[in-house]
Amino acid sequence: VTQFRYIETMLFHTCNFNCAYCGFVTGGTVRYADDLAPYRDPDYIRAVLDFLERHEGGYKWVVQLSGGEPLLMPNLPMFASSLIRRGNKIRYNTNLSLPIEKDSEWLDANPPEGIDVLMVSLHPEGMQKYDMMLERIAALKAMGYPIITRTVAHPKAFDWIDRVAGDMAKLDVSYTPLPMFSKAYPQAYSPEQRATLETHIKAFSGLIQLNGGLDVSGRLCHAGSRLFALGLGHTGGGDLFRCVSTHQYAKLGNIFKDRHIRFLDGPKLCARPDRHCTCAFHFETDMVMGAEDSGTYTRMKAGHTEAAKPAFDDFARQNDLKFLYHRGPAPQGTEIGEELLIYDPAAVADILLGADHQAAFTWAGGAFDGIMPYKDNVEISLADTIHVDAPAEIGGGIQFDVKVQKGRKSCIAFDGKVRKGNGTLAVYSGQSAHFWHAVPKYKGARTVTEAFVPTEDVIRIYIYSDAPVSIDIESVRVLQAA
Ligand code: SF4
Ligand code: SF4
Repeated sequence: VTQFRYIETMLFHTCNFNCAYCGFVTGGTVRYADDLAPYRDPDYIRAVLDFLERHEGGYKWVVQLSGGEPLLMPNLPMFASSLIRRGNKIRYNTNLSLPIEKDSEWLDANPPEGIDVLMVSLHPEGMQKYDMMLERIAALKAMGYPIITRTVAHPKAFDWIDRVAGDMAKLDVSYTPLPMFSKAYPQAYSPEQRATLETHIKAFSGLIQLNGGLDVSGRLCHAGSRLFALGLGHTGGGDLFRCVSTHQYAKLGNIFKDRHIRFLDGPKLCARPDRHCTCAFHFETDMVMGAEDSGTYTRMKAGHTEAAKPAFDDFARQNDLKFLYHRGPAPQGTEIGEELLIYDPAAVADILLGADHQAAFTWAGGAFDGIMPYKDNVEISLADTIHVDAPAEIGGGIQFDVKVQKGRKSCIAFDGKVRKGNGTLAVYSGQSAHFWHAVPKYKGARTVTEAFVPTEDVIRIYIYSDAPVSIDIESVRVLQAA
């Protein structure tokens, strides 16, 4: 019997959707087309394959491809067919917006027996083309692909749940709503919402998530010996971790720099200081001892439609499962994702500041009185865009003052991007900083920062870096609530 090791591969942030609950969208990296660039070089893909081959250790791999949207990966057929030829399996975490059912190259490289599962998320933009999505899912199911479908249980998307569940049951495809992890959710679900989710969630892992995640204090898990997380693309750089939730705590090595990465020799205690395990994949793959859930997943891949709740309470009692809601930052998403389904900068400003907010300051090309360099050796050229070059090691940027009404909720709306390095947008009134926000690195689209309340009549805005940087600014506006 083939035994598998699991690796969650975070390919890139790039995606063609704009889900407002997605951190890549609110963080400005979702249109980072450059994150795809390494995959255009077959040698890059070969290096990833080579790492996997050298570290098989008697197992085969289940390689979970996540993004962004993994179907956007250049040279995907080459990667997929090489993996599958060696007896590995692929799991796609996909929005299924690309017509793979008609793509002979994809189909040839990804025969159904090489696919662990197509984990299809019906996101808001997918739901706008729901009939087409249903046809695509039906076509792939008819070809023999194991498919599980999901929707994020966004408070504004509960009316999808019954409808999708009914349609998927007709197709003999399993459907499970995913509890949302934002600042307030899943804790903020009302008793009625919770009951709806309990009727439809098919896997124990979904119910663990509905309860906030597992408190794994004193519990052993196989992450680092049979489960791994790998960051690829420019954003991931080849770093390997025990699991996706431990990237700050448990790096095992870098697949491009280390010839051999030593894995852990068996189950260990969780590497997270808060001992909080939330990712469904960890339970689906039986990695967390006493919270093994591969049984339901095996049935779900075959179209299982029974709710998990009736069996869950016994399962939780027998295994002494304890649950925990997150207290710090949410594992995914921001506050704005609780209000909106599809990200739209204008709507974000309306929600944060009210629809009658006004611009206290606008620069959108042309003369700009009061712009000053921040640090030495900064080159500033001003025309339709402000081009800032700060090549020295100490970095640099620009600063300028804006008159505002103190005490009013405010945001900065910003168009532009960093060409080189990492840029920061900082706002001060007096000596106190309100926040630092990453300058969008990868897109020219507008960013709206989080809201702040100026404590003085003048705020100072810095757009800068402490390392070499080059930034193009297309417009800056300071928006204030009426
Ligand atoms: S959550 Fe939405 S925007 Fe984010 S990667 Fe998935 S499909 Fe793309
Ligand atoms: S218990 Fe969960 S979060 Fe902790 S190391 Fe294991 S898989 Fe990762």
